[in-house]
Amino acid sequence: MTIYLDHAATTPIRPEVREAMLPYLGESFGNPSSIHQFGRTVRMAMDRAREQVAGGLNAEPGQIIFTSGGTEADNLALMGVATAYSEQGKKHIITSRIEHHAILDTCRFMERMGFEVTYIPVDRTGLVDVEALKKAIRSTTALISVMYGNNEVGTLQPIEEIGQIARERGVLFHTDAVQAFGMEEIDVKKLPVDLLSVSSHKINGPKGAGALYVSKNVKLVPRAFGGSQERRRRAGTENVPGIVGFGKAAEIAAAKRTEHRKQMLELRETLIGELARERVNFVINGHPKRFLPHILNVSFPGTETETMLMNLDLEGVACASGSACTSGTLEVSHVLEAMDLSDELTRSAIRFSFGWGNTLEEMRRTAMITARIVRRLTIE
Ligand SMILES: *Cc1c(COP(=O)(O)O)cnc(C)c1O
Repeated sequence: MTIYLDHAATTPIRPEVREAMLPYLGESFGNPSSIHQFGRTVRMAMDRAREQVAGGLNAEPGQIIFTSGGTEADNLALMGVATAYSEQGKKHIITSRIEHHAILDTCRFMERMGFEVTYIPVDRTGLVDVEALKKAIRSTTALISVMYGNNEVGTLQPIEEIGQIARERGVLFHTDAVQAFGMEEIDVKKLPVDLLSVSSHKINGPKGAGALYVSKNVKLVPRAFGGSQERRRRAGTENVPGIVGFGKAAEIAAAKRTEHRKQMLELRETLIGELARERVNFVINGHPKRFLPHILNVSFPGTETETMLMNLDLEGVACASGSACTSGTLEVSHVLEAMDLSDELTRSAIRFSFGWGNTLEEMRRTAMITARIVRRLTIE
């Protein structure tokens, strides 16, 4: 039996979510923009999904823009805001060096389009340098984008503090909360954040759905034109089954959040404890206290990431090196690089990420299998 420990890459769909989606892959096929009853039925289901996703953030349904996922939400936030505010001469963006590629690659593109981007460094635990961020703010800064929790090492950023600084300086603040959604308590009425990205398939919903929360008074130029969907901020007929599934997944995630969080912590602690019991040499990467409980990044000095992953896969443990986009290549993780870890740690890091369905017994087996492989690979 294979053990799936790559929930930060994607998660299995819950049966309740699949059930909720089925009518919209069958008889309820209408276009939500149609005014006849086929359209109205579907429109109602989408309204409900919007309430469910908004509920998970304590947002108003009207502040939710459905997208094709976290990547599109990130792209829309950066390009939409930067384009809108460049008309006022604001052509500067601040982000961090450890963002997901959906942010970093968009920033690179914005640079080619004539925008200026400052990439804030992080410390060895993956925490963004807040002082450097403060100093980077200019009169022309339109937006700060710093992720809520990192997808490779799990470090949680001081989002409230950064948001507060942004407010005081009159700069908009976006956070990629794809990994934090369903795990941390996110209340946009309390949190000083103007835009926030979430994704369905990271919370046991279907792929191809996500959302961008946008607070009132934020100007946003759309990235897709053609129809008046999503309050004219994202044209195109909506992915109704995906959105309905996303809504259901968000509702379940909110209801089970506290319990789920506790389970993830337990899985994490069990895996760490069992690895220690196996007496293999390992180092945990990330922050010792401020972390997402479902992400555990560990280095096994003397081994190499790719070899470890291949061996683990052969023995029935599916995990990753970090972002799915960099695995499959020998490229060094930009996150670990930014954390300035030694070459030895950077080159031997693997990410275990937990989720719904994982058991404590799986953690014991994973530790045993991992230790066996580490021993085999580190024999002189
Ligand atoms: C997965 C992920 C994304 C991308 O979301 P998709 O829905 O797969 O496009 C963005 N940011 C973070 C932090 C992620 O983990």
